[in-house]
Amino acid sequence: MNAKTEMLERYFGYTTFRPLQEEIIDAVLAGRDVVAVMATGGGKSLCYQLPALMLGGLAVVVSPLIALMKDQVDALTANGIPAATLNSTLTYGERTAAERAITSGTLRLLYVSPERAVTSGFLSLLKRSDLRLIAVDEAHCISMWGHQFRPEYRRLRELREQFPRVPIVALTATATPAVQEDIVRQLNLRSPAGFTGSFNRENLRYRVLPKRNVFPTLLKYLADHREEAGIIYCFSQKSTEELAEKLAEKGYRAVPYHAGLPDVVRAVHQEQFIRGDVDIVCATVAFGMGIDKPDVRFVIHADLPKDIESYYQETGRAGRDGEPSDCILFYSRGDYRTIKYLIEKECGEPAQKDVAYRKAGKMLDYCESTECRRKFLLRYFGETYPAERCGTCDRCETPAEVFDATEAGKTIIECIRQTGERFGASYIADVLCGSKSGRIIANGHDAIPAYGSGGGYTRDQWQTVLQEMVRKGVVTSTGGRYPVLTLNETSRSVLSGKKPIKIAGSPPEETDSAGEE
Ligand code: ADP
Ligand code: ZN
Repeated sequence: MNAKTEMLERYFGYTTFRPLQEEIIDAVLAGRDVVAVMATGGGKSLCYQLPALMLGGLAVVVSPLIALMKDQVDALTANGIPAATLNSTLTYGERTAAERAITSGTLRLLYVSPERAVTSGFLSLLKRSDLRLIAVDEAHCISMWGHQFRPEYRRLRELREQFPRVPIVALTATATPAVQEDIVRQLNLRSPAGFTGSFNRENLRYRVLPKRNVFPTLLKYLADHREEAGIIYCFSQKSTEELAEKLAEKGYRAVPYHAGLPDVVRAVHQEQFIRGDVDIVCATVAFGMGIDKPDVRFVIHADLPKDIESYYQETGRAGRDGEPSDCILFYSRGDYRTIKYLIEKECGEPAQKDVAYRKAGKMLDYCESTECRRKFLLRYFGETYPAERCGTCDRCETPAEVFDATEAGKTIIECIRQTGERFGASYIADVLCGSKSGRIIANGHDAIPAYGSGGGYTRDQWQTVLQEMVRKGVVTSTGGRYPVLTLNETSRSVLSGKKPIKIAGSPPEETDSAGEE
């Protein structure tokens, strides 16, 4: 047995490495900068914890959540690994003890927030330590292309500047190639060794259901999954509470979880869920970071997540034990309006908004696409699923019907042409539905033949057909915050009757609205 596996057993109690762990650890031990992309639950922590022990000296771990740091430090200390955290919740005594351990060389792992990591007080403390490794956890937070941009992460470059000889290992669970490049650039990594694990979670079954009669559908599902642990994500705090209450009335052990609840209530609910005293948590996205419960059997999204990264991360909390688990999403296009509202409220810079809109668009594509869900998700993360179908998603189990949308498509193309190829899907849908919006009147588009020509379909249904046409390349979209639809060769061959539009999926039909407006 080599030193690595010996330490793996002695300190962590594991006999083998998970995929990529050993390769990453070897690169870190060799003194290289590393970018490690591994799915949640893949075992990223070990990739810097084990090297920290083997290198001796001190490893600083930058991590965004104080609660998470505390859990990690407790677990490490319990395993006999000298670890500590410096944060504002420490007493004076705890802080001086930690500082002494840092400078005397007895500490191996030190967890800090990104804000603290770059303060001059902390940097000068580090100068008096034997710093040998810097780990940046949740490294995607550094990138505006990621889904959890935290500007303070940008300042971590300071660590590289102050300690140019200390290797940096950046870890994340959600990195598209653009995010990875950004991590390398922002942290100024030197020809880093890159490792990307597979994002395929074999045991997760993906399903998208129309957002209609949600509660009865939910009850029907839960009746077949009594006493199983699950998370139901809702958009608003209020709906988590309402849903938990309604489920409790039906005899389910369900509790709400959201940032508006008092800290103690949140802590109790989380603890109850982890221990199995309650089965269901109805939660906002505030729930889940750092939850390591192996037997979560289902993750249900009652509302649309804002992007694929979030969806993947949230569903990733199911089935950590490898047993089959369900990921169910209730979809209505109306939810897009809620997301739009959120983007307008939360994104500062225009470029950031643009990114957020593109991401939200991809989320709609996921729901409306007729492709295998797994294949779609993996491609989003730059991975090629080796088969056409996975066999364990709704698209594979019941291939979508195909219907002829040539007439609807022609109507849309006509409308785009008559409005001068200068507008986006919602404007086109408005014109087709004969909306009296001021913009349409001002543009004189209430006088074109296409105006109000779209009887039968609702506005959302037109948009669904339009989206599918964009995906199929029948019309071209510029994408971004204000996507403009233009015509191309394919549009023209549809108009001239040379090419039919077959849309897989059932013909559009009425769905519940988001209920969040
Ligand atoms: P991540 O940070 O990638 O989400 P963690 O580091 O929290 O993942 O690890 C996820 C789970 O896997 C933890 O429960 C951890 O104890 C376990 N784990 C990590 N490495 C191994 C290993 N080599 N063998 C067995 N279990 C492991
Ligand atoms: Zn599939």
